[in-house]
Amino acid sequence: MRKEPSPGERRVALVPDDVGRLLAAGLTVLVEHGAGDGAWLTNGAYVDAGAAVGSAEEVVAGADVLVMVDRPTPSEVATLAPNQTVIGMLRPLTDPDLARSLAERGVTAMSLDGIPRTLSRAQSMDALTSQANIAGYKAALVAADTFTRFFPLLITASGTFRPADVLVLGAGVAGLQAMGTVRRLGAVVTGYDIRPETRSEIESVGAKSLELAAGVSASGEGGYARSLTPAEQSAQQEELNGHIARRDVVIATAQVPGRRPPLLVTEAAVEQMRAGSVIVDVAASPLGGNVAGSIDGESVVTANGVTIVGAGNLPSEVSGAASAAFSRNISSLLVYLLKDGALLTDTDDEVLAGILVTRGGAVVNKATAELLAARASTGGNP
Ligand code: NAD
Repeated sequence: MRKEPSPGERRVALVPDDVGRLLAAGLTVLVEHGAGDGAWLTNGAYVDAGAAVGSAEEVVAGADVLVMVDRPTPSEVATLAPNQTVIGMLRPLTDPDLARSLAERGVTAMSLDGIPRTLSRAQSMDALTSQANIAGYKAALVAADTFTRFFPLLITASGTFRPADVLVLGAGVAGLQAMGTVRRLGAVVTGYDIRPETRSEIESVGAKSLELAAGVSASGEGGYARSLTPAEQSAQQEELNGHIARRDVVIATAQVPGRRPPLLVTEAAVEQMRAGSVIVDVAASPLGGNVAGSIDGESVVTANGVTIVGAGNLPSEVSGAASAAFSRNISSLLVYLLKDGALLTDTDDEVLAGILVTRGGAVVNKATAELLAARASTGGNP
């Protein structure tokens, strides 16, 4: 396992507590010097757990299986060999070029975002869930910290302070955790999702469910949302604007798998918010987020005094818990895939079929291969 190369990434893919599990499964573990620094895990802790520590070059060149939180860099891809396997959060549907370059190197690549989420034996490997849960928790804390008033109702000798009014957009794993955490901080919270089946889940964490009169609903496959049509999107947005405008805080967590996150908080909605309001865009990404004007990793204050926090990588800010959870996911996957000292190759296995992106020089993930073929036929344009 190597150190995450991105300067903003404090997580690490494997923590010392899980090294013993991998050794017991017959693996040897090689860790880059300082890989755990961002999560306060020392080289000594890895060595005590039975791992060897080496340079980045030794790790990348020497590993049969290279595990990572995110993706290999272009320079790493250029050095990988056909006998190596890379496991990380590769997101091949939003970065198909990476899949193509890994296939060109003959590398076997597995992506944790392909873990079948409803399969009970795969739940301990579900890094999308473990990290989204942490993102939702931290989003509530970031919102409370950025807001210059109280979250709970406070009755004091110096006055009565009403509780903050918080709207959470998207009621997946991150959104529900954000609602629950906001609730525990004492604010009034309302949740909204495009999938009608989320109503009871929103209410179960102590939030009110926001129902739009336009009644747009978009349940897609596998419990995910589908993209809205332009007409549905404008109906949703027009009505949502009014609800956003009167909130103190909006936390946006909506995602559609393999697509740009939907734009839910428009410039017009932001302009209607009061000075001092806060928006946390958990969906912020290089592709854009849920909020017009959000910049991933930055806080922007608009001309009308609204702070928009672009918070696309909150798990990195909770690096201890996020690394422990990610490590548990990836070590469970490795132990599952190991059969007689080698990684499973049987694609009838639902877990392997879900995560396998490239093998034997080809992009084997069907949706990614189709995306690359469609792009090739349009000369690279999506
Ligand atoms: P996600 O990150 O893909 O999306 C977050 C939320 O955004 C979703 O609830 C989605 O409906 C919502 N959304 C998308 N477009 C929207 C729009 N235009 N307006 C409002 N909301 C919008 O979702 P996720 O957190 O990965 O969860 C997806 C599903 O997977 C859920 O049904 C969840 O319960 C399910 N899941 C199941 C298991 C399990 O069974 N073990 C584990 C994890 C997740």
